Amino acid sequence: MRIHEITNWAYGLTLVFTGLSAVAFIASSHSADRERAAVEHHLSLDTLAEELALGADERTNEARLYVMTGEERRLVSFSDEEREEKRLEGTIATIRSLEPPKSEVDLLNSIRQDADFLDATERGAIDAYQQGDVDKARNTLFGPEHVRVHTRFMANVEDFRKDTANRTLSAVHDAQFRADFFGVIARVLLGATAALFLGVLYFVLRRRVAMPLVKMAAVVRRLARQDYEVEVLPDERHDEISEMNNALAVFRENGLERERLDAARRAEQETKDLILQMMHRLQACQTRGEVAEMLTRFMPQIFPTLAGHLLLLNDRRTTLRVDATWLEPRRCQDQFELSDCWALRRGHPHVSDARGGDAQCKHLREGGQEALCVPLSALGDTIGLLYFEEMDAAGASGEISRLYLELIAENVALAIANLELRERLTDMAIRDPLTGLLNRRSLDEMLNRFADGQGSSLACMMLDIDHFKRFNDEFGHDAGDMVMQHVAQIIRESVADRGKAFRFGGEEFTVLCPGMEMEQALDMAETIRVTVADAPLNHRGRPLGRITVSIGVAQSPSEGPRSTLVSRADASLLKAKEEGRNRVRPGREQTFDLAPLIDS
Ligand code: GH3
Ligand code: MG
Ligand code: MG
Repeated sequence: MRIHEITNWAYGLTLVFTGLSAVAFIASSHSADRERAAVEHHLSLDTLAEELALGADERTNEARLYVMTGEERRLVSFSDEEREEKRLEGTIATIRSLEPPKSEVDLLNSIRQDADFLDATERGAIDAYQQGDVDKARNTLFGPEHVRVHTRFMANVEDFRKDTANRTLSAVHDAQFRADFFGVIARVLLGATAALFLGVLYFVLRRRVAMPLVKMAAVVRRLARQDYEVEVLPDERHDEISEMNNALAVFRENGLERERLDAARRAEQETKDLILQMMHRLQACQTRGEVAEMLTRFMPQIFPTLAGHLLLLNDRRTTLRVDATWLEPRRCQDQFELSDCWALRRGHPHVSDARGGDAQCKHLREGGQEALCVPLSALGDTIGLLYFEEMDAAGASGEISRLYLELIAENVALAIANLELRERLTDMAIRDPLTGLLNRRSLDEMLNRFADGQGSSLACMMLDIDHFKRFNDEFGHDAGDMVMQHVAQIIRESVADRGKAFRFGGEEFTVLCPGMEMEQALDMAETIRVTVADAPLNHRGRPLGRITVSIGVAQSPSEGPRSTLVSRADASLLKAKEEGRNRVRPGREQTFDLAPLIDS
């Protein structure tokens, strides 16, 4: 029940109890009045009856004394008494007016009749005495009839007094009982009112208001300090205090929600900052290795529950291979065909959920958590894939993360595409487009770089295709180009990672091998020469005939200074040409013997 309802009820009941107790008090006092009236009534009736009896007795005595003594004063007294008798008759009329009960009225009638009889008899006796008939007078007044009536008169008066006494006594008792009864009721009601007041005071003020308010004050203090850990106990009662309590609970819930939102906003801001940081780094990466490093460094910080791979397409754009990994994804294979991935096929991010709600990518192993494939495409080209896998079901990344992942994928793709573009531009700047070997500019740069390290050994070969003009002339320039590419390929494969091959110009090539001695360089040159000579080549179905190369080899520092390295190799090449071509010639620093000149 609500507090205002309780107080209204208590107020109403207090009013009713107070009213009832007032009525009871009034009734009690009224009964006391009635008691007093009954007593007064009894007293007046008793007095009147006594006066009646005494008056009649006196008159009879005076009449008897007069007829016995003849004293005039007795007659006077009798007459006085007669007047008194008249007064008593008035008294009887007064008693009647008090409306006594019928039994008493009957008694009064009888008393009246006897009084009238006695009066008439005594008056007749006095008359007889005055007329001289003394005996008759005396016989009348002392005769048995007079005595009987007089006695009955006195007895009736006495009965009347007793009756009135009894009646008034019962009225007094009745009034007393009523007064006591209503008095008790009034006190009980007053007590109930007081108990009700105290009960309401205790129950409403202490139990329903004061105690919950004290608890709420403690809660409010903690909420004011933004301590939302405070517990707001549920209040099952439906009153104003419970409404306040529930409002506090709602306030606390709102506070918690606000804190949660703030934390989520902060976390999202941190995520955004990290993503931005990573994007800036990605754009500054100079190699794919750096891109991979940035991803493995930042991705676990941005999405701690998402494991992943960066997979890049091979040059032929058919196969994907893992280039970077973070947080150990379990489901994705390290290498797979482009067609195994739905995301790459469709060109859109694809979710392979563990419950099999959508098509599963073929490059995924069975079981495990949800996996997301985001294609990497930039400038209209697909270049690879970002693969993500939830580490546990609880850390589902959600729609917002998905947007971030797509943004990251876009950025990674752009970074890699830029790198590829840069690589292509660099290649164009440093490589010869026909053979794919490094160009003359690269050779000059490399020679300049090696110019600093005078102490370390460096071998150099100069190669020239023999009678190359013939291929051009006989089979056309395309055939000449083809021969050039063929020889360049053999040089590249023979040198491999032991050195660098350059197109020097025309049909001439240069090879630089750091850390290589003359013997090894001569071996390598010989291998190239033999391989070229032994590899027949057709152009449009026509055999081009034998292709041979002449090679001059030089070395520093054992065979001469670094500054003359290329010229020594070139001189050796010339020598090889002069000696008949298709041969390897070492080039050494010329040591001039001055003795013959001196002798001559
Ligand atoms: P040798 O054995 O003395 O070196 O004779 P050779 O014919 O190889 O030498 P020569 O210097 O007389 O001729 C070189 C020719 O190579 C001249 C030029 O037209 C041709 N040439 C230079 N660059 C290219 C090219 O990129 N493609 C083609 N097809 N021919 C080229
Ligand atoms: Mg030539
Ligand atoms: Mg030449």
